[in-house]
Parts: sequence; structure tokens; C-alpha cells
Amino acid sequence: MTSQSATASETSAVRMEAVYKRFGDFAALSEVDLRVAKGERIVVCGPSGSGKSTLIRCINHIERHDEGLIYVNGFELKPEPKSVDLVRRETGMVFQSFNLFPHMTILENCILAPMSAHGLGRREAEDRAMALLEKVRIADQAKKFPIQLSGGQQQRVAIARALCMQPKIMLFDEPTSALDPEMVKEVLETMKGLANEGMTMLCVTHEMGFAREVADRIVFMDKGRIIEQAKPEAFFTAPQTERARHFLDQII
Ligand code: ADP
Ligand code: MG
Repeated sequence: MTSQSATASETSAVRMEAVYKRFGDFAALSEVDLRVAKGERIVVCGPSGSGKSTLIRCINHIERHDEGLIYVNGFELKPEPKSVDLVRRETGMVFQSFNLFPHMTILENCILAPMSAHGLGRREAEDRAMALLEKVRIADQAKKFPIQLSGGQQQRVAIARALCMQPKIMLFDEPTSALDPEMVKEVLETMKGLANEGMTMLCVTHEMGFAREVADRIVFMDKGRIIEQAKPEAFFTAPQTERARHFLDQII
């Protein structure tokens, strides 16, 4: 970690400065500046195609940004594998499609990365996994395969699996969008639990009830840019831009 050691004064969990991400000529992110403090809960919203997933994916280094600077817990994201490993260790990611390995049991899904990336023994990895499956209230399903679980249960497993890597930041990309309505609540409750424990969270979601209740700040994106940031109360009652007003009219 010599060349990448974080500065002691760093208080931001995520810091983005003038970040651009392009696909060919198209800028999916333009001039994005964002700071997320440790322990802060951010909800990212905006129309389809506005760059929300790209933003999250750049923070987790699934996508490499083209310009600008991104720091995660003080470590600068650079193209080299060491940097990628480092940030992946700090961040947990939960996707819309749960992305569990179908041929592995719930427990096996949860112990794989801690054993391979953290070098944990099987016993230790299983103890950690069972404690986290307990936390998302699904420990009784540990021996089952993903297909035997409901969508809501699978998503709770995906959250537990991410937590097994002991991340400092949790990134969520529309975690409830693929769920039947009756399963949305159980996943949001799990996320609220995490928020109450002080986890730093960046959530792309259109669940505005969750946003009002949990978010410290709403980040609104349009056409690859962050065009508005505000506390939930201010954002929902008095959005500053026409585009945010229009967006809220459509979804609330
Ligand atoms: P959102 O999550 O807000 O719906 P995305 O971040 O997925 O938006 O996408 C932002 C824009 O970037 C969209 O126009 C999308 O088509 C484009 N885009 C995203 N990923 C790719 C890719 N791998 N190749 C080309 N274009 C992409
Ligand atoms: Mg998206």
C-alpha cells in the first residue's frame, strides 16, 4: 500500500472530482463532483439513462473513468490491478439482478470471496456468513440454492454476501426494481437496518419513501451530470430545477 496510502486527514468515503466517463463519443458522466462523508447515506435518482449505474460502477471500478479523480476512503482509483483490488475490498455492491451463483448454496455464495480474497479458512468464513445471514433473517435457508428462494430472499442474501467482505461502503443499484411489490419492503427494511448501524451507503433507487426516511442527501442526475443535491425534505418539497420537478411529477 506504499504508493497508495490514504491521507490521514481524509474524511470522505468517496470523493469524485470532475469525472468523465465516455462510451465512444457519448459522455455517460460529465464533470461529476461528489463527496460522500463517512457514515452518510445518499440516494441517487434521475431518469433512465442519466448515468446513475455508470456513477456507481465507476466508484466500484467495474467501469474505468476517463478523466478526473476518484478517491475511495482516501485511495485514488487508478487503472492498475492493485488499486482495483483495494477498492473492491472497501466497497460492497448489490445489483438489481441478484447475481448469486446458481450452482452454489446460499452459504457457499457467501463464503467464496472471503476465502479467496481475504484468505479466511472455511470455518471462519462460514461463521461470518451465518452471522450475516442471521442479520438479514435468512440463516434458515443457508443450505438451499438460490432458485429455491423468493426474489426478496435472494436479494437479502446478496446483501449478506456483500457484507461478508466487511466493506466500508455499500453501493446499491436499484436493488428492489426487479422484485415483486410484496418483496420490496423486506429488502428496504434490511437496507434501513444497515443505515441505522452507520454504514456509508450510496443507493440508486426510485423508492422515494425510503429516500425520505433514510437519505441524508438526494443526488439528482440528468444526462450524465449531477444537477441537484439537497436534503430529502428540500428536494421533495422544493426541487430547484425544472428537470427534477418533472421527474418527481412522473414518479410520485
Ligand atoms: P442509468 O443507470 O441512469 O439508467 P446508465 O448509467 O446505465 O444510466 O447509462 C447512462 C448512459 O450510458 C445510457 O445512455 C447508456 O445507454 C450508456 N451506456 C451505459 N453503459 C454503456 C456501455 N457499456 N456502452 C455504451 N453505452 C453505455
Ligand atoms: Mg441503471
